[in-house]
Amino acid sequence: MAVPVPSSPRLSVVVPLYNEEDNVALLVGEIEAALTGWDFELILVDDGSSDATVARIPRHRWVRVLEFTRNTGQSAAMHAGIMAARGELIGLLDGDLQNDPADLTRLVAMIDQGADLACGWRAQRQDTWSKRWQSRIANAVRQHFTRDGVHDTGCSLKVMRRPCREALLPFNGMHRFIPALIAAAGYRVMEMPVHHRPRLHGQSKYNLANRAFRATYDLVGVMWLRSRQFSYSLKSSSPNETPSALPEQRLGE
Ligand code: UDP
Ligand code: MG
Repeated sequence: MAVPVPSSPRLSVVVPLYNEEDNVALLVGEIEAALTGWDFELILVDDGSSDATVARIPRHRWVRVLEFTRNTGQSAAMHAGIMAARGELIGLLDGDLQNDPADLTRLVAMIDQGADLACGWRAQRQDTWSKRWQSRIANAVRQHFTRDGVHDTGCSLKVMRRPCREALLPFNGMHRFIPALIAAAGYRVMEMPVHHRPRLHGQSKYNLANRAFRATYDLVGVMWLRSRQFSYSLKSSSPNETPSALPEQRLGE
């Protein structure tokens, strides 16, 4: 008899998929190999693919599939998966095999060392020259304004403690500001270099027009949010309440 997936595994891995029919089976195989012996679930969020992505998902007992009725965007797909996660930790990666699932366990080790959010940093990026430059400029601008403390916010490969998800707001473009939003909520953000691989199958969904300008507009919104953000703490004498559950405890450390 198959062992059921625990209702609260140690790790939930969330992957957004939009027209990744030639990647999805390989991806699931790599995740299985990387997490052998781990207590995990894999949440694949199909973002309204028009190809055979959903049909090609290997249906292991630890695979959960959420299907959007229409293409809604990478941020929406990641948000849906993150909110559906039951794990103590939530891992994120892209579905196009550019991220190496073997890095997930290294990021979990960083959480064990005290991070609330462990971010991958594509130190040796395997993308076109123009994409690398767009990313370099975007990361420098974001880092200057948000002070999120990471080199590479565009790298999807991340692991967070589940309570961090409360800092993630549902807007298009949110996936580029995960470290900024989580750091602003008072959580501890760390990063480490991870592998990066060229995309071998399917196409990137982004170009200069649909990435750079939208991301700049979103940056203004995130800056506004940060400038208007409040945090509060409860008196320890408040009856029946436990202030230790609040993330701003971190800020006061
Ligand atoms: N993606 C998605 N919805 C979209 C665009 C992208 O779910 O509308 C997924 C895509 O399938 C991939 C990840 O988001 O798993 C990153 O997309 P992509 O590889 O195109 O981004 P890039 O690596 O070019 O920045
Ligand atoms: Mg990619």
